[in-house]
Amino acid sequence: MVDAHKLDCEAAESDCRFVVQSEDEGEAVELAKSHMRDVHERELSDDELREEYLQVV
Ligand SMILES: [Zn+2]
Repeated sequence: MVDAHKLDCEAAESDCRFVVQSEDEGEAVELAKSHMRDVHERELSDDELREEYLQVV
């Protein structure tokens, strides 16, 4: 089984149901980053996303 990288936005922003999941970490980071920027107007670095938001499932 391959690990997937997952961002569950509900954990970060309690009223948001956005979830991104990908086996490709780079893709998960990109999708999470654009979601955070477009929806929450938060500019997060790749490292911040990886360390604070992405889970390995
Ligand atoms: Zn969100």
